[in-house]
Amino acid sequence: MPTMPIRVLPTLLVNQIAAGEVVERPASVVKELVENALDAGATRIEVAIEGGGRELIRVTDDGSGIPPDELTLAVAPHATSKIARPEDLVAIGTMGFRGEALASIASVSRLSILSRQRTSDAAAELLVEGDAITGPRPASGPPGTSVVVRTLFFNTPARRKFLKSEGTEGGRIADVVESLALSHPQVAFLLRSDGRTLLDLPATDDPRRRTLDVIGREIEPKLLVTDALDGGITVWGLLGLPELAKPSAKHVRIHLNGRPIADRAILHALREAYRGLIEPARSPLAVLFLEMDPREVDVNVHPAKTEVRFRQPSAVHQAVLRAVRRSLRLADLVPAFALGHPSETAGGNGSAPAFGEPKETPFTTFTGPFTVGGAAHTPMRSSVQPIDYREARDRLGPLPTIGLVDAPASLPTPVRAVEILQVHSSFVVTQDEQGLLIVDQHALHERVMFERLLERIAKGNLEKQRLLLPTVLEVTGSELEVLGDLESLCERIGLELAAAGPRSIAVHAFPSFLLERGVDVAPFVRELLAKSTDGDAGGSEAALSEVLDMMACKAAIKAGDRLSLEELRDLLASRERIERSTNCPHGRPTSLRISIRDLERQFGRC
Ligand code: ADP
Ligand code: MG
Repeated sequence: MPTMPIRVLPTLLVNQIAAGEVVERPASVVKELVENALDAGATRIEVAIEGGGRELIRVTDDGSGIPPDELTLAVAPHATSKIARPEDLVAIGTMGFRGEALASIASVSRLSILSRQRTSDAAAELLVEGDAITGPRPASGPPGTSVVVRTLFFNTPARRKFLKSEGTEGGRIADVVESLALSHPQVAFLLRSDGRTLLDLPATDDPRRRTLDVIGREIEPKLLVTDALDGGITVWGLLGLPELAKPSAKHVRIHLNGRPIADRAILHALREAYRGLIEPARSPLAVLFLEMDPREVDVNVHPAKTEVRFRQPSAVHQAVLRAVRRSLRLADLVPAFALGHPSETAGGNGSAPAFGEPKETPFTTFTGPFTVGGAAHTPMRSSVQPIDYREARDRLGPLPTIGLVDAPASLPTPVRAVEILQVHSSFVVTQDEQGLLIVDQHALHERVMFERLLERIAKGNLEKQRLLLPTVLEVTGSELEVLGDLESLCERIGLELAAAGPRSIAVHAFPSFLLERGVDVAPFVRELLAKSTDGDAGGSEAALSEVLDMMACKAAIKAGDRLSLEELRDLLASRERIERSTNCPHGRPTSLRISIRDLERQFGRC
């Protein structure tokens, strides 16, 4: 390989190399320019783009402005007005600090800056194209700064070629502006794309209002508030009800001290808090704001400053997990039955009133600042006149007994008999304070079993029963292979498996819990092996959760099982006693509610 003498690279090339990290696409330019405007104390920021930002990006602010004689420095690499000494790196309070954004952007675009200081009458303009700098020359303009970036990557064609469609790049820009707007509600934002207004956010002192302006007011009734102070970390934000969960994590927005960040640990904590309330492959909708001492976090780990490093990552994880879990626990998560409005065609979405319509929200009331208390927990006991189901109940006749739940230490007042009805041996109908409640008996009991297993596992391994005669199964080679990996998991759940030949496995002990519930050994082990060879190892906790899921499903009463009144009562009482009772372990709802209000509406009473 031919070598060249060592040389110091020309500034333009240095800047272009830095640009490779800082300026990945038009959205990164918008991010840097808007951050500069925020650092300049702007109260209004306007972003205009053309061709998805590939042709033009203009960011205009009413911030402090740049003195004419500093304009050239602003586009020089490693030139910044935000830090001066090494100590400053320890606690960064501005969005920018690296002093390389403008230099990087200028090196891969045609850039112009027009700026006027608040305290001055004179504006000045600077033009940069590659190495050539024109100005600063006197100009006219309002106080503040306007930066225009044209034909991004015009001199780095490889980069330009890799840009996605206008729509995709434009969408990413909207995303960036939304994220920054979320954490700066006191600043007004306007985003226009080819003359079309995409975002128009008035300034507000109320972070909740800004969040709703960004994510859409129509989902307000389906949002919960979280707000907690935990070990010096404030966690607050809006959380979507489980039913708003989406297949991707796009709807999770995390902000740290006003900076939008991507953080896997926080995302994990959030999903962990929702575990069992939403289907495993989904992510909740959440806008989270974390505030903490800037000395506790290093923001200087990523050129685009989108990732940070916490001094105590586990404390942050804990704080988020606890805050979110608590809000979910306090909330009433029973989904409303989607009844159409009587005047609508059947199947209309009666559960989500449009913005402006008087709405009765069982979840939370947005009347004050962010408080957890807003999410009211609805007790099961009823203050409404009981519905008389006696007659229907009497027709049920004698019922088999199935031991449903352990007798709890203290039973909440049981629901009265006349208020419970089992329908088609599958659903249980009862009432609560807000209306009619329909429970899927299998789903709810599955959750009961799951929580019980979890509780026992937390206390130690599950009890097992030795099989007098081992059950022997024929298995595939790959199933035999995973046996070793399963060892510790099996131990925890009370299952003993051993290879019993080149193609068979012997089951020597089986969880007592499953035997008591009449679960067959062979099919259970087969399913466990099949799941384990699926290959998507999500960590041992996830694997345990999946196995407990399986056990709960097999042990739970089924649709079609007739239940005695006692059992129905126990089952319903468990809704109040266990965690996450509104959803089965797979995240599907265990109960649905038709509110009295909906009933009245359906009957034309209001
Ligand atoms: P950094 O933001 O890391 O300091 P930049 O390259 O983004 O580096 O900006 C360089 C400097 O230019 C900033 O430190 C700031 O003094 C000045 N500057 C850039 N944009 C603006 C703006 N919109 N308003 C006022 N000053 C600005
Ligand atoms: Mg900057």
